[in-house]
Amino acid sequence: MCHNSKTMCNDCRWARKLQFYGNYFGYPKCCINQFVKMALAEKTPTRLQRKVCEKTGFVPCSYCSWKILTKKVMLDELVQSRKCKIPFRKHK
Ligand SMILES: [Zn+2]
Ligand SMILES: [Zn+2]
Repeated sequence: MCHNSKTMCNDCRWARKLQFYGNYFGYPKCCINQFVKMALAEKTPTRLQRKVCEKTGFVPCSYCSWKILTKKVMLDELVQSRKCKIPFRKHK
């Protein structure tokens, strides 16, 4: 990644797009950032992440996944200030 706003490389452009949609869908910053990093490194979500996301399309970061697993937080509680008009889980 170049992080140069004037001549953005494809990775930066993609990262910005993923960040935009993460915010749009109301996902937490920590989860968006980790998701972007993993996507750029072409890493797939871990078993824990796949387990807790319940096929909603929202992939929580390792820390949030752990909180969900230990029932400190619910998956739905993490989705806040959503800009998308379609409610979480209803979105396909
Ligand atoms: Zn770049
Ligand atoms: Zn998180």
